[in-house]
Amino acid sequence: MARRLRQLDGLNVSEIKGIGAKRAESLAQVEVNTVLDLITYYPRTWIDRSRQAAISDLRDGEEALVMGQVKRSSSRRTRSGRAIAEVHVFDGSSYLRCVFFNQGWRARQLQVGTTVVLFGKVERYQGRRQMNNPLVDLVGDRTGRIVPVYPQSEKAGIASWEVADWIAEALERAGELADPLPEDIRIRLELVPRTWAMRQIHAPDSMKDKDAARHRLAFDELFRMQTSLVMRKRAVERESKGIVHATAPPAESDLLGRFLQSLDFDLTPSQDRAIDQILTDLGGTFPMHRLLQGDVGAGKTLVAVAALLVAVQGGYQGALMAPTEVLAEQHHLSLRNLLGDLSVPDPARLGGERPLQVELLTNRVTGQRRARMLEMLASGAVDILIGTHALLVEHVNFAALGVVVIDEQHRFGVEQRAALRGKGEDPDVLVMTATPIPRTAAMTVYGDLDVTTLDELPPGRTPVRTEWARGPMEEAAAWSMVREEVEAGHQAYVVCPLIEESERIQARSATEEFERLSGDVLSGLRCGLLHGQMPGKDKEAAMAAFRRGEIDVLVATTVIEVGVDIPNATVMVIEDADRFGIAQLHQLRGRVGRGAAVSRCYLLGEGSTPEGETRLKAMVESNDGFHLAEVDLDLRGEGTILGTRQKGRNDLKLASLRRDRELVALARDVATEVVDSDPTLKDHPELADELRLLLDEEEAEFLFKS
Ligand code: ADP
Ligand code: MG
Repeated sequence: MARRLRQLDGLNVSEIKGIGAKRAESLAQVEVNTVLDLITYYPRTWIDRSRQAAISDLRDGEEALVMGQVKRSSSRRTRSGRAIAEVHVFDGSSYLRCVFFNQGWRARQLQVGTTVVLFGKVERYQGRRQMNNPLVDLVGDRTGRIVPVYPQSEKAGIASWEVADWIAEALERAGELADPLPEDIRIRLELVPRTWAMRQIHAPDSMKDKDAARHRLAFDELFRMQTSLVMRKRAVERESKGIVHATAPPAESDLLGRFLQSLDFDLTPSQDRAIDQILTDLGGTFPMHRLLQGDVGAGKTLVAVAALLVAVQGGYQGALMAPTEVLAEQHHLSLRNLLGDLSVPDPARLGGERPLQVELLTNRVTGQRRARMLEMLASGAVDILIGTHALLVEHVNFAALGVVVIDEQHRFGVEQRAALRGKGEDPDVLVMTATPIPRTAAMTVYGDLDVTTLDELPPGRTPVRTEWARGPMEEAAAWSMVREEVEAGHQAYVVCPLIEESERIQARSATEEFERLSGDVLSGLRCGLLHGQMPGKDKEAAMAAFRRGEIDVLVATTVIEVGVDIPNATVMVIEDADRFGIAQLHQLRGRVGRGAAVSRCYLLGEGSTPEGETRLKAMVESNDGFHLAEVDLDLRGEGTILGTRQKGRNDLKLASLRRDRELVALARDVATEVVDSDPTLKDHPELADELRLLLDEEEAEFLFKS
């Protein structure tokens, strides 16, 4: 019988020959406790002896990895008492001198005749090549052409050759490994067998074999991850009985049709596609769980409105939840504008119709007004309710909630999504985000959602011209552009520095900045202030005045980050721009460039870190949210994106959501194929067994229950 990973996970590493209690303790430091941990402790890199850089070819200043034999080794102390070890390594082409400071023991470790791998920066000292404090690895007297180098092994006091020996022993004893991937699929995908892959990744016959092995094992990791995600999605679908919405109603109740006809522009092809997909979801028996992602200004609101209208035309209600009051208010305004003339059937009324009712509920709606609104909501007299978190509280009850739209999904937690969904009986859910992430990452982060992407902007937009104003001259030019635009009848935003500690401090600094600017560089212009700590009605008044053009320059905190849509605003100045993340900068910049006029965005401040500099440069170079998302992913790494999504143990040891994008998509397809043919994996016991290894118990129970 082939050996399953679960069995190897049940064996302690101390069972392996040569690993005593002390070695086991060192291995525990690098989180290797079981035999499974050991064989999945993959090499950090591989050295091809026949192709590695020769010492004689190394150039000064470059980082290099070399392998050679120790020819001389000594240690001494400086006059100040510091220990210095000096080791000379020869690789057949030339000598390299290595100097270790405060590491006197190196002379004992690196005795003459030892084969050693060194990684470090090549410098020239007294005319000779030298590395200072290089990373050292002992690979032992390997015979193979390719030598594996294991990660961090030095920190734990373990040499790579020891790890390699233990793994060889472990794999020898494990014998044939169970392969969870059905043979026909494996052959179709041209993947190598698992047992072979596991051996070759640790002791490859050639670099090509190593690559094939890595490909297979990385696929396995992604396949496990995607299988659990697809199973979760299907389990949720099985659990719920969704509403079958009326997507093709008779003409008299075809609200969506009437709405689309009333628009004075054409839908973009991607809006068309998105609405099609949503109609299919809404007309189906499973509740929709769809993510709509699109760059700022791509026209997501329109797609959301379409979904809400489908609910209403079938006699249900719709809810739209936004993360801030400012945004909720704005959605309310634009929905009233868009839907103002529509009416819905109402047999109780003369003429059999009443106007479509759109209401706004925030914490500021109180007393009598609130009571009346809640009553209308519970009786079904409100068709679409827009609001903030205020929608989630206890006394908000819908008569028949059919479609839920959540705007700017990243601002809400999973629980809040669930809470809103809980206001109805399995309503359909559309979540929207203007912080796009690459498709393959979306597949994982939002693994239980379907993803629709609006990948084009409506025609006629002019890209925002972005400049990084890093010096006083450039900054002065930015402010005079603000003045110029205002004189030309346009408006401007000034975004105050981000202050992480507290909203209160941020509000105070915004107030000070407002006073400073209006008395100085912006004197004579009509300035307004907007921050999160202002009373709701003052916020609303400031936005309304800006919208009406009674304020020229709005000095604001990040409260304006999302959704605010004022086409006459054509300049934005962002202060201390390098404090913001890319996604946030892009969101902010999306507040301008919404009309036909040329818009500009100025990023002030120094790039105080190399990363900050990269972010600002990327902003200057690109207006494309998807491109910027990739840059962001590269800068921050995928850990931050996966974040809380990860349950159970981390299984991505070889695979990377960044580097292995195609493999993620492939794994997703195969996972869907397997799960749809065998929803609880009863015919795939090896695969089920491996998944259980990764999932926490609760999750496993949920997925495997039929
Ligand atoms: P976002 O995706 O950022 O939420 P919005 O839905 O706010 O974008 O749309 C931005 C602007 O583009 C709005 O003023 C909207 O009316 C307009 N718009 C949306 N779709 C189209 C279209 N197909 N053609 C022209 N303008 C459109
Ligand atoms: Mg929007």
